[in-house]
Amino acid sequence: MRILVTGGAGFIGSALVRHLVRDLGHSVVTVDKLTYAGTLESLAVLDGDARHAFEKVDVCDADALADVFRRHQPEAVMHLAAESHVDRSIDGPAAFLQTNVIGTYTVLEAARAYRETLPPEAANAFRVLHVSTDEVYGSLGDTGLFTETTAYDPSSPYSASKAASDHFARAWHRTFGLPVVVTNCSNNYGPYQYPEKLIPVVIAKALRGEPIPVYGTGDNVRDWLYVDDHVRALVLAMTHGTPGETYNVGGNAERTNLELVHALCTLLDDLVGEAPSGAYADQITFVADRPGHDHRYAIDATKIETELGWTRQETFESGLRKTVVWTLENQEWSARALDGVGLDRRGVIASSTVEADA
Ligand code: NAD
Repeated sequence: MRILVTGGAGFIGSALVRHLVRDLGHSVVTVDKLTYAGTLESLAVLDGDARHAFEKVDVCDADALADVFRRHQPEAVMHLAAESHVDRSIDGPAAFLQTNVIGTYTVLEAARAYRETLPPEAANAFRVLHVSTDEVYGSLGDTGLFTETTAYDPSSPYSASKAASDHFARAWHRTFGLPVVVTNCSNNYGPYQYPEKLIPVVIAKALRGEPIPVYGTGDNVRDWLYVDDHVRALVLAMTHGTPGETYNVGGNAERTNLELVHALCTLLDDLVGEAPSGAYADQITFVADRPGHDHRYAIDATKIETELGWTRQETFESGLRKTVVWTLENQEWSARALDGVGLDRRGVIASSTVEADA
C-alpha cells in the first residue's frame, strides 16, 4: 500500500512508519511540521529507502496538503500529527486547538477532496485512520474500564482538543461518507519517546542525580501500552476496521505513577547501578499536582481483540526493560531532542489564579 502518515517524525508516528516500511513493505509518505517534538533522526533507519518519502508540511496548511495528496496518491491516511503534551496544553492551549482541531479538520477535508478524484474501486478501499487518546473519556474512579461507548468527558486542554478532533472525524464519516476509523489508546511508552514525557524524564533526572518529580501523591493510575503493540493495532484498525467504528487499544497494565517510577528506579539500579545515594528511588520527590489531573484511566480492549484479532506481544515488565535499555543506549538522541527545550516543570498554575477561579 501507499500510506500517508501525519506526525510520522514523532514518537508513535515514527514507530508506525518504521513498522510499515521495514516490517510490512508498504510505501509511506511522512507528513510532519517538525515541531520541537518531531525529528527525522527517528526515521534515520529509512534513509535511502525508496519506499519512504518525507514532506515537511503543517497539517493546517490546506494547499500544501492537497499538493501532497495529488503527488503521492495515497491509498490510506494515518493521522497522528498533534500537540501531545498535557502540561504544555495548560501553559499554551492555542497550539492545541490549532493543530489538533483545525489540523484534523484540514486533513479530513483534504482526504475527502482527494478521494472524490479516485475511481470508485479505489475510493471504496480508501481509509482514514484517526489516532486518539483514552484521555477524551475523562477520569475513572477506582473501578471500571473505558469502552468505545463511554461518554466523552475531557479534563485538559489537550484532551478537549483531541475529543473535538474525534467528533470531527466521526462526523466526516456520517455526513460525507469518508471511510474513517478512530482509535483511542492508553499511555504509550517505548523507544524514541520525546524526552519530556514521564518515563524519559524519570530516567534523565535519575541519571543526573536530580530529584525525580512525582506529581501529587503519585496515586494517579495509567494503563501502559508498548508502542510497537500499539502500531500493530493501528495497522489492523486501518486494514480490517469498519469505517465509522472506534477501537480502544490498551496495555492491560495499570500502574500508579508511583509504582511506575519505582519500577524504573529498580531497573536503573539493575542496569546502571551507580545511584549517588545507593538507590535511585531515594531521589523520588513529590511535587505540586497537575491542575485537573485525572485520577485513573483504564481501557477495555475487548473489541479490537475479538473483532480484529489484536494481541499484545509485550508485558509491562518486558516493555519497560526494553525502553530503559534503549534510553540508556541513546542518551545522545535524547540530548539533541531536548536541545533548547530543557526539562523544567510545565503546566503549573499560580495558586492565586486557581483560588480566584475556584
Ligand atoms: P509526539 O508529540 O511525539 O509527535 C507528534 C508529531 O506531530 C511530531 O513529529 C510533530 O512534529 C508533529 N506535528 C505537530 N504539529 C504538527 C502540525 N501542525 N503539522 C504537522 N505535524 C505536526 O506525539 P505522539 O506521542 O507520537 O502521539 C501521536 C498521536 O497519538 C497523537 O495524535 C496523540 O494525541 C496520540 N496519542 C498519544 C499517546 C501517547 O501516550 N504518546 C497516547 C494516546 C494517543
